[in-house]
Amino acid sequence: MTNPLHDALFAPLSGRHSPLLILQDGTTLTGDTFLRLIGRQAHALHGMGVGKGDRIAAQVAKTPEALALYGAAVALGAVFLPLNPAYTPGEVAHFLGDATPRVFLCDPARQASLAPMAARHGAALLTLDAKGGGTLTDAAAAQPDGFDPAPCGPDDLAALLYTSGTTGRSKGAMLTQRNLLSNAQALAQLWRFTADDVLLHALPIFHTHGLFVASNVSLLTGGAMIFLPGFDADTVLHLLPQATAMMGVPTFYTRLLSDPRLDRDLVAHVRLFVSGSAPLLAETHQAFEARTGQRILERYGMTETNMNTSNPYDGERRAGTVGFPLPGVELRLTQGDTEVATGHIGQIEVRGPNVFAGYWKMPEKTAEELRPDGFFQTGDLGRLDADGYLKIVGRMKDLIISGGFNVYPKEVEMLLDAVPGVQESAVIGLPHPDFGEAVFAVVVPKAGVRLEAAQVLSGIGGRLARFKQPKAAVVVAELPRNAMGKVQKNVLRQTYAGWFAG
Ligand code: AMP
Repeated sequence: MTNPLHDALFAPLSGRHSPLLILQDGTTLTGDTFLRLIGRQAHALHGMGVGKGDRIAAQVAKTPEALALYGAAVALGAVFLPLNPAYTPGEVAHFLGDATPRVFLCDPARQASLAPMAARHGAALLTLDAKGGGTLTDAAAAQPDGFDPAPCGPDDLAALLYTSGTTGRSKGAMLTQRNLLSNAQALAQLWRFTADDVLLHALPIFHTHGLFVASNVSLLTGGAMIFLPGFDADTVLHLLPQATAMMGVPTFYTRLLSDPRLDRDLVAHVRLFVSGSAPLLAETHQAFEARTGQRILERYGMTETNMNTSNPYDGERRAGTVGFPLPGVELRLTQGDTEVATGHIGQIEVRGPNVFAGYWKMPEKTAEELRPDGFFQTGDLGRLDADGYLKIVGRMKDLIISGGFNVYPKEVEMLLDAVPGVQESAVIGLPHPDFGEAVFAVVVPKAGVRLEAAQVLSGIGGRLARFKQPKAAVVVAELPRNAMGKVQKNVLRQTYAGWFAG
């Protein structure tokens, strides 16, 4: 038996003396150096008793050592569990209690406060700081650098990723070697990645986008990554001329667009810009093309399924859509148990080697969302256009039912966004004594513009059926977002919960 994920992503780094990681300060790590780092970490962790199936939880900064830890977990046949550094100790306690990792890695600055919690859940504590130092690195230093990967099969778990939980409690999505490898293969082929590519990597690696989509595709195809600790517009603009590709969330693109240095010449060498994890406004897509001559390729995925759909590489990249199902991925739109016809809105369901093995220790929740025929109910609402492009129209949980009528927030948001002076908007349902739920709009003005709520509402007045029109609106400086740039509608619903009360 082999270890398919290790064999595809990491084993080929052996003897590779060209740069794999190009760091912000210009230093580089060759593929071979990186593989040896993985080997030493794997020996150190093995020495602490980490074996096949054990969870390795890490709440650490993005460094080459942190990425190597993923490689070490794969080599050990262990299950990598990355955690957002923004999680509070209370949240981390939940993850440790739920996943019971053998080892937990944190920043040395948090060691004292997290040690009792790690001990309570039976996890050995190691540290890794933002420069790659700490007790993991110390323990690895004296280890041999060749590690024999543990035999694994395609159905063995490789990672446990907790969903970002913008609607309800985080759940651990169990991802197998097959899930990760099949998706990396599909994307690498579709997006034409080769060993000549240099990917600008400014995404976090605790999330599926940066850890799997970006890193796995690059590792699989033998390219290099400009590996940045986070997104900083200055640094990205400085380094983009060295890149051939960039993957980002929509906020990367809006921030780059707000800088006059972004132009055609600066990105002349880049062959591909990808966006995902949150909706890219059609306006951003168009503004980016007008400025750079490049059409951003938007794709759609989620923690549980890896990537599901993508706009085409060669064909038309249609703004406001997420394209077609990836090769090997089946897609259908349903209402209840019935498939809806083209042009109608339904829940997006997907099936394929990309779909996860279920929620960690939550068989009932898994059974609710994974149908017996293997289709996963994403909770996203979509519509297929006549050419087969998928458009996401919102989350099921965000659907507003006002006076018995369905209101899709996206439809209202698109009209609000087109009102002069409006930068963006979020439409939510709030409890209302007469209607059950009432439509409520939260609007952000463009920089330097003064907007009144009444003015925005009258701006869309005649263009929507009365039941879809917001009953009230507020103007705010910005929308609450999580680390991946997703608007946190749950936070908005809480903030304005009492608006229509009494
Ligand atoms: P996560 O599990 O954190 O990756 O979040 C997945 C969710 O992000 C999906 O279920 C969608 O609601 C949303 N999402 C991802 N990509 C896109 C996209 N391109 N457009 C709109 N929503 C997206």
